[in-house]
Amino acid sequence: MKTISILGSTGSIGTQTLEVVEEQKDLQVAALAAGSNIALLERQIRKFHPSLAAVWDEKKAKELRENIKDLKLKVVSGMEGLLEAATIPEAEIVVTAIVGMIGIRPTIAAIKAGKDIALANKETLVTAGHLIMPLAKKNKVKILPVDSEHSAVFQALNGEKKNKIHKILLTASGGPFRGKKRKELEAVGIEDALRHPNWSMGHKITIDSATLVNKGLEVMEARWLFDVELDQIQVVVQPQSVIHSMVEFEDGGIIAQLGTPDMKLPIQYALFYPERRFLSGKRLDFAKLGQITFEEPDEQTFLGLPLAIEAAQKGGSMPTVFNAANERAVSKFLERKISFLQIYDIISKCMAVHCMIENPDLDQILETEQQVYDYIESRW
Ligand code: NAD
Ligand code: MG
Repeated sequence: MKTISILGSTGSIGTQTLEVVEEQKDLQVAALAAGSNIALLERQIRKFHPSLAAVWDEKKAKELRENIKDLKLKVVSGMEGLLEAATIPEAEIVVTAIVGMIGIRPTIAAIKAGKDIALANKETLVTAGHLIMPLAKKNKVKILPVDSEHSAVFQALNGEKKNKIHKILLTASGGPFRGKKRKELEAVGIEDALRHPNWSMGHKITIDSATLVNKGLEVMEARWLFDVELDQIQVVVQPQSVIHSMVEFEDGGIIAQLGTPDMKLPIQYALFYPERRFLSGKRLDFAKLGQITFEEPDEQTFLGLPLAIEAAQKGGSMPTVFNAANERAVSKFLERKISFLQIYDIISKCMAVHCMIENPDLDQILETEQQVYDYIESRW
């Protein structure tokens, strides 16, 4: 029996993690943390019997306490609550399925408490990878990728030596606007941007897929996870989303991981690594699929990728600026306050005015985040 804690249990990754728990009988849930959806959280509590629930919103936490007073369960709230869920003694693995850089502190706390991390929350690694990876090493904990591309690379590296990697070929679907030019993106709305061709995910990452910011974040995530140079990572558009990523080795051999687009595979792989388990669901049928095609990413139109590479090359606090600006810009787009293309304007403006800190510590990362938010509020 393995015991896990899930941060972000009511979201896309969180609910699919619980589907894996339901299917695999030897997983137990110690803690569930969510933002504000207490109706779903209550159903999850009644089904999976955790000993702790964390709700970000204090008022909602109170409401939940009232609704489940027939149960013996502690309900906590705010950052303290999240940290308690991340460090609960019973859990061996913490699934970080929370969205945004709010995940940094709980991830660090979980590592310090000796938990392995099933990492979905890429924003954490993008902004604090230089702190998190050495900390994980020091505490002898595993960072197990849940992001499908990184899980694919992780699987391709089984039995291989990292120093034999020539390059990582990170695949991208191209998102809902693949093939469109800048002019055509001027008037696109939320509904268009949320129509991802292959994956059903939370709103923030779906918008990030449309801007190609997601792929940029994934380049940075890959760099930390696999300890490679930026120029060893190449993004390849593969619109059918059946090749989840590939590794080219020194000798020119390439190992890819393929399958139908289903996040339960990387989630399950992270939870049981190095063991593989049966997973129900659709299987890839090559004859039906017919073809797998490839393209170069259109970096002239989808500025999310080149801006991310620029932030990664500059390093230091710049990836935090890139990420924080994007987080706030995406919220504003989802609130219909800015247009789709303004997401790029906000990110590039925030990067242009930032005074870089070479090797930011946690406080400096969080201060930088706040400065970016304040700057955006004062201008947009
Ligand atoms: P989502 O929006 O569906 O879910 C986010 C979860 O985080 C929800 O449970 C929400 O309640 C919780 N949350 C948000 N703010 C919180 C807070 N302050 N305190 C506690 N809980 C909070 O998002 P998602 O699509 O599941 O994505 C989660 C993370 O996984 C993101 O970092 C995303 O980039 C990454 N990811 C997702 C997918 C996917 O298929 N959905 C794939 C790869 C990576
Ligand atoms: Mg991904």
